[in-house]
Amino acid sequence: GFKPASRIASVGVSKILQIGARAAAMKREGLPVIILGAGEPDFDTPESVKDAAKAAIDAGDTKYTALDGTPALKNAVVAKFRRENAIDYATDEVTIATGAKQILFNAFMATLDAGDEVIIPTPYWTSYSDIVEICGGKSVLIPCEAAAGFRLQAEQLEKAITPKTRWVLLNSPSNPSGAAYSAADYRPLLDVLLRHPHVWLMVDDMYEHIAYEGFDFVTPVAIEPRLKARTLTINGVSKAYAMTGWRIGYAGGPKALIKAMAVIQSQATSCPSSVSQAASVEALNGPQGFLKERQDSFRRRRDLVVERLNRIDGLSCRVPEGAFYTFSGCAGVLGKTTPTGRKLETDSDFTDYLLEEAHVAVVPGSAFGLSPYFRISYATSEAELVEALDRIAGACAALS
Ligand code: PLP
Repeated sequence: GFKPASRIASVGVSKILQIGARAAAMKREGLPVIILGAGEPDFDTPESVKDAAKAAIDAGDTKYTALDGTPALKNAVVAKFRRENAIDYATDEVTIATGAKQILFNAFMATLDAGDEVIIPTPYWTSYSDIVEICGGKSVLIPCEAAAGFRLQAEQLEKAITPKTRWVLLNSPSNPSGAAYSAADYRPLLDVLLRHPHVWLMVDDMYEHIAYEGFDFVTPVAIEPRLKARTLTINGVSKAYAMTGWRIGYAGGPKALIKAMAVIQSQATSCPSSVSQAASVEALNGPQGFLKERQDSFRRRRDLVVERLNRIDGLSCRVPEGAFYTFSGCAGVLGKTTPTGRKLETDSDFTDYLLEEAHVAVVPGSAFGLSPYFRISYATSEAELVEALDRIAGACAALS
């Protein structure tokens, strides 16, 4: 029979995908399921970006490109880092890949030897630990509760560092918590890193452009240039420009690391899609005005969801600074019994109950390494959010 390689033995199919598949199947059976699990904006890719892709096709821009990105896209990324983040990366300190996911994969594949440790604050985007695992490393998960703003604290970081630590991975704003680090939040962590020169910093800034008024997005290298020589600053066009299907992510980092990542990419994909790279040049260099409009729309939905969640007995939701997720505590509903006589023991019992009885699909905190919580993605219409929150409130009120 089939025997998978040991490197994937402990990597399962993501809980998020399982819930999505179950919800989609229920919908096909005709049940009125509302899915609040999506990890992508509900907006469309901007017209100017689509036009740039069509023009690229017509111009014959349809062949292999340079291994880790076209000069045009690398220049656009260099300009983006300068304009928006006040960081100077040279073109040979920039890499382009098939999504930020492949950036992470290239980086870990190029740097982890068996048993090397990667410190990951939880709750975290599950792919982080799965990719580390596939690459032979070991994830060191550090719980960061709502009371700490879902943010890693300096003492926790200090305690977690060992001689085997290769990377610390920070994500701000975060999927799934929506929490973000201000310059003041980052400072003590960066001070710890300055004292441990063998530890490298990977930052995932994917949700940079989905951060709300009153929060100033900042990335670590801009705060602490002394860490630039051992930081990989990851970003991409997926979330900011509603381009998840185009599969383009990028990063800035020290030249030697960027070169090592290119070695992995050369044997994995040869290069990112030529057409998607041309589209991404337009996304980064073109008009940015719509970002603010979309942000305002996300903020209205965030406020609506947080306000309604906090009105429900048994749930509590911290106001997230960014991304399009809420991560709510559900300790207050555990121990209660459903109308059909099932006792809710875990956050995943609770989210199963919401799916089966209220026909609302959300993801349990256990899928992100921190319980008892659940994640809502509010990248959907306000009407659908109102209906979903009414159903969640009804389902919670029916517990005894
Ligand atoms: N980083 C985070 C925190 C994400 O949530 C996601 C997508 O869900 C990604 C990276 C991957 O983005 P990409 O589409 O560029 O692979």
